Amino acid sequence: MRVRVLGTGGFLNSGLRGNAFLVDGRLLVETPPDIVASLGAAGARAGAIEELFISHAHGDHVFGAPFLLFNAWKERGGGKGPRIVAARATRERILELAALAIRPGHPYVAWIRDECESVEAAPGTGFSFGPYEAECYPMFHELPTLGLGLRERGGLLFQYLPDTRWDERVGAYLSLGARLAVCDLNGTGGDRSVHMGAEDLEERLDELVPAGTRLLGTHLSGPMEARRGRVEFAREGMTFRIAADGVVGADMAAPLPDGALIREALVADAELIARQRAAMFVDMGSKDLEDVERMRVAAEREIARGLKDGSYRAWLAEAGGEVVAGGGVIVAPFQPTPTDPALRRAWIVNVYVAPEWRARGFAHALMRVMVAWCREQGFGAVSLHASEAGRPIYEELGFSRTNEMRLALG
Ligand SMILES: [Zn+2]
Ligand SMILES: [Zn+2]
Repeated sequence: MRVRVLGTGGFLNSGLRGNAFLVDGRLLVETPPDIVASLGAAGARAGAIEELFISHAHGDHVFGAPFLLFNAWKERGGGKGPRIVAARATRERILELAALAIRPGHPYVAWIRDECESVEAAPGTGFSFGPYEAECYPMFHELPTLGLGLRERGGLLFQYLPDTRWDERVGAYLSLGARLAVCDLNGTGGDRSVHMGAEDLEERLDELVPAGTRLLGTHLSGPMEARRGRVEFAREGMTFRIAADGVVGADMAAPLPDGALIREALVADAELIARQRAAMFVDMGSKDLEDVERMRVAAEREIARGLKDGSYRAWLAEAGGEVVAGGGVIVAPFQPTPTDPALRRAWIVNVYVAPEWRARGFAHALMRVMVAWCREQGFGAVSLHASEAGRPIYEELGFSRTNEMRLALG
């Protein structure tokens, strides 16, 4: 199973895409107002959606449905529409909204009514999505709201627990031990909140959530630190592969647009890496382009030498057959300390993403590859110099400021 986080935002939010998830590219969970754009950003199309699950009739979950369905209708040229799985009131809301969005007699409204099979979801009713058996969980919210679980051969792979206040029964759902569970954490916690909060879970985490479950908070009011205490939050673009044997795919948290890949650099890439390095300095404010050009020429020689003898390792991200981002690790001899007995140290340098590919997870994905490589090589630590733009990514990955000082000698 492949689950992609299309958005993590709630009703009130500071600019996040609306909370929605795409399973195997064909099952769409929730239709927030911006769903058509979110699908587009993930390289998916409305017409490819075979099934829809909508948890309840609040606007941040259904207001995108008329637009999703209109685009699906156009793309498919009529014919059979996606199957809509929702509580009865939610489905009625979708038909009302579609009629309001255009006009009651429009053929696409009739198409939704006649060609989109409707499954009335309720706790205890069994239905399936492709190869998965589904189950529903009643949530504790202002409107009747349903959570969703997907099982394969009995094993609970994915669980979505939408809008709810904290209740012991939510704890019981989490105890079922899904491999990946995403849970409403929009609130501040406590019994009177409409939404659960990280506070509700933090103290109960060990007791409630089995060790094999990766739990992510979603339906957020703004970008969250990756973790607050021990609770982890979902981020747009995260992609998980969930296997039957219960493993949440190896750090697929590094999201890349579909079709993009990361490869290790070859000596022949030295010229390209030097150009990325030059662009990085210009981005950081280097004004004297002659200085930058001199640096680029010298850097290319040094990068080629390092790639050849292994004192420099680099990785490049490619999308659409083109290199769009990169980063590398300088390895140099160093004297041991009592806490770090290694005789060499590692520095991450040249982290660069081409402007048109920014904010799509490339820097994050490259950093994870490089940090994993350093760990594998047995380094006790890895250092870098952060630009202002890069600092949040590095902090999210666990980097902290050091006590290093510097004296300019120029
Ligand atoms: Zn709601
Ligand atoms: Zn909501």
